[in-house]
Amino acid sequence: MTLSRKPPFAVPSATESIRILPLGGLGEIGLNMMVVEYRDKILIIDCGLMFPESNMMGIDYAIPDVIALADRGSDIVGLILTHGHEDHIGAVPFLLERLGNPPVFGTPLTLGLLQGKLEEHDLEKQPDLRLIDPAVRLPLPPFEVEFFRAAHSIVDGVGLAIRTPAGLVVHTGDFKLDPSPLDGQGTDLERLRQLGDEGTLLLFSDSTNVESPGHTPSEREVGKMFAEIFPRCRGWIMVAAFASNIHRIQQAIDAARANNRRILITGRSMQMVCRVGRELGYLHFPDHALIGLDDLGSLPRDRVFIITTGSQGEFRSVLTRVALGEHRQLRLEKGDVVILSSKFIPGNEKSIHHTINNLFRRGAEVYYQTIHPVHVSGHAGRDDLLEVISLVRPRFFVPVHGEYRHLVQHARLAGKAGLAPENTLVIENGQPLTVSWEGCRLEESVHSGRTLVDGKGVGDLGFDQLRDRRQLAHHGMVVVQIVLEAGGTRILNGPQFHTRGFIPQEEKEYYDLAGEVIRDLLAEGNADFIDDRDLLREEIRRRLQRFFNRTLQKRPMVLPLVLEK
Ligand SMILES: [Zn+2]
Ligand SMILES: [Zn+2]
Repeated sequence: MTLSRKPPFAVPSATESIRILPLGGLGEIGLNMMVVEYRDKILIIDCGLMFPESNMMGIDYAIPDVIALADRGSDIVGLILTHGHEDHIGAVPFLLERLGNPPVFGTPLTLGLLQGKLEEHDLEKQPDLRLIDPAVRLPLPPFEVEFFRAAHSIVDGVGLAIRTPAGLVVHTGDFKLDPSPLDGQGTDLERLRQLGDEGTLLLFSDSTNVESPGHTPSEREVGKMFAEIFPRCRGWIMVAAFASNIHRIQQAIDAARANNRRILITGRSMQMVCRVGRELGYLHFPDHALIGLDDLGSLPRDRVFIITTGSQGEFRSVLTRVALGEHRQLRLEKGDVVILSSKFIPGNEKSIHHTINNLFRRGAEVYYQTIHPVHVSGHAGRDDLLEVISLVRPRFFVPVHGEYRHLVQHARLAGKAGLAPENTLVIENGQPLTVSWEGCRLEESVHSGRTLVDGKGVGDLGFDQLRDRRQLAHHGMVVVQIVLEAGGTRILNGPQFHTRGFIPQEEKEYYDLAGEVIRDLLAEGNADFIDDRDLLREEIRRRLQRFFNRTLQKRPMVLPLVLEK
């Protein structure tokens, strides 16, 4: 018997099928996670988090709910990380053990950034991190994963070509088509064309910027802007950017050095990324170019360059404190320049505008994306997306990484590339899809959603508790305490009111009236209130709420405490 030298994936069978299941990132921006399943084997692509939306009060992060993968740990052959952004790697420390500690694959920077996060969590088992070489195919039977370079706002990103017994699955990861990338590692269009020639069963592509017309400009455009701005400045120059945007940092540092300025790196995450980036050879500048906060006094202002984070107006970031004039060593003066070199992320506009207003108040000149081209996107624009679909020519197309409208627009764009509408599937988290060359089938949706991370608690708070927090935040709280005689309804003590975020308890006259409500209730002589104190508590709550609403149109949270003596 002679063994076929060709592995089975080279001859995909029309009758074989794969099942895909998105668990995050489809119908929302953030917490990306995609499951690809063949028979009982599972490959996971990315495992990201989402920073809290404004209504997620006090929550630190949201991560994908992976209940659909409960007890499947031994079936997971690997978790592949496309790049080092939080929305792709941020949930790994929280979910690795729940997923049965599968091996995690990524490029050096991606794993370097993940390692930094893992060290902040004490995991019981040492995570199994495995470096990939994008030039070498990775066998993960029954899958085989090939990597191709994807240019993005972080270096070392990859897209995936996954060979399965049912056919080839291409996942772009987050990407742009930078025609002149700084590291020469643009998105590999030639490889995408070849994958199209080979025959692609299914394409997943990044929908983030489908609403941006045309092509996304090269990262170099920002470098040109820095080269224009820097020589004109006579004071400090401060650039705020995302710590993960290593090319942006490099360009800013290059412009600073070309203008004879020394470099101060501030902010914890910026310092961490600069250290890891230099160690791994992604960032280049000599030690002697660096200064510390203590050196500021001895250098003329036109010899200083400061790089930091906080471009989203984050509370407590260095930039926010500088803008408020609350940073001890970094005090802006007239003639200083601050450049916010990043996107205004939707939802953050208010805090960003607040920061910009305050920077102007300090006398600084401020450059920001609305007025100056000091930022370009890391995601492909509409024409770039069309080009990718046209090159890959997949049999089926599933738009990923976007809010629902982005997915819909991306699906329509695929129609322009000649894809039949029935082969383009707009699906959301928890919607499994079975795909073969013969056709595709939507299956009954499975449980999915967001797990909330609050301090050390992962999933111990649900949306009911969030609703409570919202009520507390918007309307305040009234605690009312009464002591009743045991087995009766006679009041021995109280009612005593304690409030937070509501009319202070010292307003005696008002709370005397509120107390009447409880006395009247007890005077009704309802015998059930003797046997069932919960019923009594609930009725006190209801009547007080009605009282506050009727008298003042306020709706505080009311917490009755009924004690017995
Ligand atoms: Zn990204
Ligand atoms: Zn992303």
